[in-house]
Amino acid sequence: MILLGGKNATEKDSVGAVVRASGHATLLHCYQCGKCTAGCPLAFGMDYNPNQIIRLLQLGRMKQVLGSRAIWICAGCWTCTTRCPCSIDIARVMDSLRVIARREGQTAQGRDVASFNDLFLQSVRRYGRVFELSVVLGLNVRRRRLFHDADLGRFMLARGKLRFTAEKIKGVKEVRRLFSRQGAPVRTRKERVKE
Ligand code: SF4
Ligand code: SF4
Repeated sequence: MILLGGKNATEKDSVGAVVRASGHATLLHCYQCGKCTAGCPLAFGMDYNPNQIIRLLQLGRMKQVLGSRAIWICAGCWTCTTRCPCSIDIARVMDSLRVIARREGQTAQGRDVASFNDLFLQSVRRYGRVFELSVVLGLNVRRRRLFHDADLGRFMLARGKLRFTAEKIKGVKEVRRLFSRQGAPVRTRKERVKE
């Protein structure tokens, strides 16, 4: 029998939080068939495959999971979720893990992951969609590498894949309301400075 729980109380609580946030205790039903990983389009770039993430959770290795690269590589495409014979919503598990990792300040790739995550969400909150140029420039400023990937940027601009100006969607207020409803709205830089 597989027992859910970590080595210590904190780890055990965290695993429990994932179970609650991601859809019941069906995590425990995983029998490692590997169908999730076989269908995952991004498994090749992960340090732990989706089925391994689930296994680590069953074993209570929360720290290992939160520090993994896999949870940030996951694109939330839901392929794994639709393939799982145990109805485990793996995409949602990954989502919950990102939220917990961010909240606990545990990100495998250090500041870049956290910065990208913040900038992306700020952009969505402000415009209702992502404004790629501001995310990329913001990330480069935070990295103190202003011209990082400049060649790639030039290439994309030339092909109209990057815009110089942001476009707001019509329902931007609704998007902001969704952010607020989550209880921890992503703050803009201006808002953070004010605090
Ligand atoms: S598809 Fe479901 S049961 Fe199979 S390994 Fe993945 S999570 Fe486990
Ligand atoms: S949701 Fe994530 S883990 Fe699942 S198949 Fe898509 S990329 Fe892979």
